[in-house]
Amino acid sequence: MERPCVRVPREAGEETRQALAAAALIDEEHEIVVDEGTLYLPVTDPDAVAAEYEVVYRDVPAHDGQRTPADILGFDPSYERLGDVAIVDEDDPDRAATIADAIIDSDLPVRAVLNRASKVKGELRIRDWTVLATTGDDRDRPITETVHREYGYEYLLDLSRVYFSPRLATERHRVTEQVAAGEHAVDMFAGVGPFVIPMADREATVVGVDLNPAAIDYLRANARRNGVADRVTAIQGDVREVAADYADSADRIVMNLPHSADAFLDSAVTLAGDDCVLHYYDIQHEDDPFGPGEQAIRAAATDYDVEIEARHVVRSYAPHELNVCLDVRLSR
Ligand code: SAM
Repeated sequence: MERPCVRVPREAGEETRQALAAAALIDEEHEIVVDEGTLYLPVTDPDAVAAEYEVVYRDVPAHDGQRTPADILGFDPSYERLGDVAIVDEDDPDRAATIADAIIDSDLPVRAVLNRASKVKGELRIRDWTVLATTGDDRDRPITETVHREYGYEYLLDLSRVYFSPRLATERHRVTEQVAAGEHAVDMFAGVGPFVIPMADREATVVGVDLNPAAIDYLRANARRNGVADRVTAIQGDVREVAADYADSADRIVMNLPHSADAFLDSAVTLAGDDCVLHYYDIQHEDDPFGPGEQAIRAAATDYDVEIEARHVVRSYAPHELNVCLDVRLSR
């Protein structure tokens, strides 16, 4: 049966799949097809696919006998997958419960369905969750703990104790692909390691700092899990206090704390070596998404030539607000 599919070269397949999954556009009822180096990814709504992708119609096989939540519900619910946890964002408790039950009853390998119960909040950027449904399997593990796979790496994490967003997968890949072997990198707000581990895997030596003790425990576990522990130093603490221990050392710095990164620029400058690339995340109004960040960086890095290498829109954050990244080269 002909279905709308995004057509991409095989090398771009994983990145595209992640982007489509983040937009909840993957048609889970049909199989991805590979044909002479080209990948066809079935999508649920061709009109919602970003303009950068090519949509074609072609025959793709239906998943064999797999019961999807849509088969059970009669409509296609919106949910995200993080390892064996499914996440929904539903205000209506009845609708949330109905969707959760359908996810658990489907053939998806999901152990628990969670609903977002608050915004990301506080210094540790954690949110509250409501557990909507579980299979009851694997009771030895916290229900909110899972192993998420991203670009071939595995991240063990507990959603109730640490920050993690699968929606940033493509962005993390964009940044970590720039890393060269032998670099010294610092992730000032490392979380469970989704920048640290790919950078270390590219043979950088990486220091990851986080205020949250649970995030640092998971970062260490994830460094071991992904075979890069020998190149990763994980430090629990306030990066403003840790920065002096690594002064003048960094060839690359990641600053993913977008609401308040400007308050940490002095520490970034302390960490920066003579030639350093800074990946500075910000959330700003769409009218001037990069200006405030650029000004703050120039004001902090007075001993450096400041060259903006990329002004990158990561995603829309809220109406009229953008999550952006400035890639900035600091040269002394
Ligand atoms: N980079 C990770 C990722 O992409 O998943 C985590 C980013 S999360 C938005 C920001 C992280 O910064 C949180 O894990 C939080 O605990 C940490 N954090 C907040 N204030 C901090 C501080 N003063 N020093 C070090 N880490 C801090």
